[in-house]
Formats: sequence, C-alpha cells, structure tokens
Amino acid sequence: MSTEHPPLAEFLADHWPVHDPHGHINGTVPGSIAVYDCICGDVYNATLADCLQHQADAWREACTIRTAEQVLNLPVGVVLHSNNDGAIELFSDGHGHWYLPGRRDAIPFRRVLDNLPALLIWHPDWSQS
Ligand SMILES: [Zn+2]
Repeated sequence: MSTEHPPLAEFLADHWPVHDPHGHINGTVPGSIAVYDCICGDVYNATLADCLQHQADAWREACTIRTAEQVLNLPVGVVLHSNNDGAIELFSDGHGHWYLPGRRDAIPFRRVLDNLPALLIWHPDWSQS
C-alpha cells in the first residue's frame, strides 16, 4: 500500500476532529463551547466546521500533483484531473501514455506536465480498501 496516496478512510484516520471538552475559545469557560482539535495537531480550539474544512483541504492537498517527479511515480491505472484535458488515465509507466478515457489519442507527457497541478481522482491502491 502506498503511503503517499492512502485511501480516503486511511487518510481520515489522521485528520479527524476530536472534541475537547476542556478547550475554550477566546477565554470562554472551558467546556462551555464545542471546541475541536484535529487529531493531526495542526488545528486546535476550532469549530467543528473549521475542523471539517481543514479535513477537506488536507485531502485535496494530498491529492494535488504538482511536480514531474510526482507524475513519474504514479502507477499505471491512476486517473488525474488535468486542467486542460479533464480526466486522463495512465496506461503505461514512466513518460508513458496518458489517455482520455475511451479515446485512443495519447496525451503527450509534456502536455501533462504543462498542465500541472493536476488532481488525483483515482489511484489503484484505493480499490484495495
Ligand atoms: Zn488534520
């Protein structure tokens, strides 16, 4: 299992709102207001809504592919959302062959790089969870 792109359920185990009954915001009495921390430690004394927004933002960041090195390390079967081409799937390793699903025209590797960042929308490891 790749640790770089864990399945959502595994990812969320590291970004989960934890209610802090003794927490407080801006000097209010501890326990008098619903206060949450993210289990990752990056968010604390926050509202539940803010914790959930952090969770969504962290997932989106984890799925954002920004560099050529990241693209080269993706396995066959990955699907990215590319700004220019929409959903594209990797059919062979390395500099290989990206296609629009259902189409036979390859998308040049250079074009994939020119349209970064892209969003990872499917990873083969995710089917194992
Ligand atoms: Zn977190």
